[in-house]
Amino acid sequence: MKYISGACESGFLKSITIAGALIALPMSSSAAGVTMDDINNDAKTTGDVVSHGIGNQGQRYSPLAKINDKTIKSLAPAYTFSFGGEKMRGQEAQPLVHNGVIYTTASYNRVFAINAETGMQIWAYEHRLPEGILPCCDVINRGGALYDNLFIFTTLDALIVALDTSNGKVVWKQSLGDFKAGHSATSAPIIVDGKAITGVAGGEFGIVGMVRAFDAKTGKLIWERPTIEGHVGTLNGKPNGMTGTLNATWPGDLWKVGGGAPWNNGTYDLETDTIMWGVGNPAPWNSHMRPGDNLYGISTIALDPATGKIKWHFQYTPNEAWDYDGTNHTIAFNKGKQKLAAHADRNGFFYVLDRTNGKLVNAFPFVEGHSWATSIDLKTGRPIEAGKRPGNPADSADGKKGAVVTVSPSFLGGTNWYGPTYSPDTGLFYVASNEMGMDLWNEPVTYKKGAAYMGAGFSIKPLFDDYIGAMRAIDPMTGKRVWEVKNKAPLWAGAMSTGGNLVFYGTPEGYFKAVNAKTGEEVWQYNTGSGIVGSPITWEQGGEQFIAVPSGWGAAVPLWGGEVAKQIEGINQGASLVVFKLY
Ligand code: CA
Ligand code: CA
Repeated sequence: MKYISGACESGFLKSITIAGALIALPMSSSAAGVTMDDINNDAKTTGDVVSHGIGNQGQRYSPLAKINDKTIKSLAPAYTFSFGGEKMRGQEAQPLVHNGVIYTTASYNRVFAINAETGMQIWAYEHRLPEGILPCCDVINRGGALYDNLFIFTTLDALIVALDTSNGKVVWKQSLGDFKAGHSATSAPIIVDGKAITGVAGGEFGIVGMVRAFDAKTGKLIWERPTIEGHVGTLNGKPNGMTGTLNATWPGDLWKVGGGAPWNNGTYDLETDTIMWGVGNPAPWNSHMRPGDNLYGISTIALDPATGKIKWHFQYTPNEAWDYDGTNHTIAFNKGKQKLAAHADRNGFFYVLDRTNGKLVNAFPFVEGHSWATSIDLKTGRPIEAGKRPGNPADSADGKKGAVVTVSPSFLGGTNWYGPTYSPDTGLFYVASNEMGMDLWNEPVTYKKGAAYMGAGFSIKPLFDDYIGAMRAIDPMTGKRVWEVKNKAPLWAGAMSTGGNLVFYGTPEGYFKAVNAKTGEEVWQYNTGSGIVGSPITWEQGGEQFIAVPSGWGAAVPLWGGEVAKQIEGINQGASLVVFKLY
């Protein structure tokens, strides 16, 4: 008998030859690490979820259909796992599951490994956070990445950390910047060709955005790509070209503290070998200080995973003035032979791009009451602004406060960080959207390390009396809204679609809901006991389909939401992972 070398690569099977016959045996769970094949095929393989977005392309779709629009009446909790302690706050993670173990982050940079069948804890890791971290929007984390025998995630004190999946011990960690200057990190890294790739947050503190690729096994830095024009990237420790052209779209020296935080996770399209990453607001918010388009703020940048070079870009909001961070996921999908990508932006418009070159294919509003721009010019890709830019403080009598504008969406966005889902069965995108407006004004500001660098004041309010949130089914090619389900509170959680003709999403009121993907009919709901701001996953194990969703209210809305936050007071905190199956 002899073992065939390299036969463990499938992650599930090892092969042996006995008397000339090739036989496949189950591989023990401890030995089988996550491979690039596992990650590249994640969207199709239903026994695991090993990447953020249920596949690097971020469609958040599972072909599983045991739980469907007919059987869902029998869906009930299998167990609830408590994240425990006194540490609650927002739970924005998307869990992962591999070989019968769930790996998830929780608030305050905790990580848990959980037996996926029983809900029993296998290990827990508690990251020690220093005094003086500067997270913008609660002590949240959006999840991690699996590669080999590592669980890799980012922290509020701006580290990327790899844990041993067998025991939760730190294997390597690397810096993503100085937390005292406002760098922090909340998104899940993506794994592409053996590299762990992540961005960084801090656009409200005048940091300079950077996407970095590390050797996922060792943590060695491979490349870094600044997101703001004028800064120089690196590859293997050597300079690797400037981002953009110095002073082409930025005046003077402001690009040196130009923001552009790529704080959400990127997506990766294997067909075109392209990473697509959203870039946040140029700093400061006061756009009068930085006349010009301010590349690559509020853009999707397409990166070569081997070198970190920018292949193409598309800017959603030139000379951005409303904090419409363009960090929303850019999601690959195909229509016939067209290789497309969709992006529901915080600015209230839904964009369809040709993902081979970044050219605009379609753009239309997906929210009501959007007032900052009337439309997007499909030839140039530029918005037709509607005179809602806050006034220049220099034009005011005392130079201290520019004219106030009332505008929507608010800076919390027509949608925000949470991923929409795309169902190849219906050809529709499902977008958690919100209708909020704001009063916004500009003030003078100068950069000071570790201090808010915004030059703006604001007050957020609901647009309508009866609802703020709405889950919407959108045809990306026609812009048609096929259905919507309104929600009193703003929606702040990821969505998932399945082969069972279902769309799942959570609400701040605590409900985890399933709706018919074709009609929007609500077919099932369960109250998890606290508001949901995390993303669900589904997988099958032992012949059963499981669904997991984090529960725990917090994140940006209660911190920044003004009148909206007041309207939804009384939602209790919590901190748990709720797992469902059919009974
Ligand atoms: Ca999978
Ligand atoms: Ca921002």
